[in-house]
Amino acid sequence: MASITRQELELLIQLQDAELEAAKTEALLEQLPGQLAALDAELEKAFFLVREKKDTLDALKKEYRQLEADFESGQARIQKRKAQLHNVKNNKDYQALLKEIEDIRQSGSRKEDEMLGLLDTIEAAEKAVSHAEKHYAEQKTVVEEKKREMEESAASRRERFEELKEAASSISEMLDPKLKKRYCTIRNQSGGLAVVSVEDAVCRGCHLNIPPQTYNELHQGDELRYCPHCYRMIYVL
Ligand SMILES: [Zn+2]
Repeated sequence: MASITRQELELLIQLQDAELEAAKTEALLEQLPGQLAALDAELEKAFFLVREKKDTLDALKKEYRQLEADFESGQARIQKRKAQLHNVKNNKDYQALLKEIEDIRQSGSRKEDEMLGLLDTIEAAEKAVSHAEKHYAEQKTVVEEKKREMEESAASRRERFEELKEAASSISEMLDPKLKKRYCTIRNQSGGLAVVSVEDAVCRGCHLNIPPQTYNELHQGDELRYCPHCYRMIYVL
């Protein structure tokens, strides 16, 4: 069994702490593009809502203009038929013309009612557009603020990540290469956690009991010992 000094053990623990925090920091940094994209998608939804409301309003206005045009052409036809009334030779044609004028007038009156109803709908649609625009503007401010905050915290995370990597590499240089190699092997096999404490005879890596003899020997603190269950390097505080 290899011997280990308290100082070496502490270096290993520091190395592990730096590496674990670096990994956590890196994982958080990797989430950033997705988080930014989610914010953009949220804003885009608000933008599409504005467009949808504007399209609805445009369609209603178009419908109104069509009704107006139809109504006006009806009025022109009425004037034309009225002029024709003077030239009609017999009563039958006269009555037919009168009926036609009345039909056009009634249809025009229905169009006017429809136009009046549409004006209310258009007013509501205009309100919906300005509501959606207001919501979009608010969302835009919120999203921009959130993105700015995220970028800022990402920048300080990046800085921290670099610090941790530097710390890890300078600690590594202080370690005995063989010990470092052993640490790396265990770390890679144990999900990043290679050195764990034993508390009340329980390994904090796998939460299983350490045999009493190993536990007693651990307190001497001069030999590098391993958990018999998870094979991690163990120590007592
Ligand atoms: Zn263990």
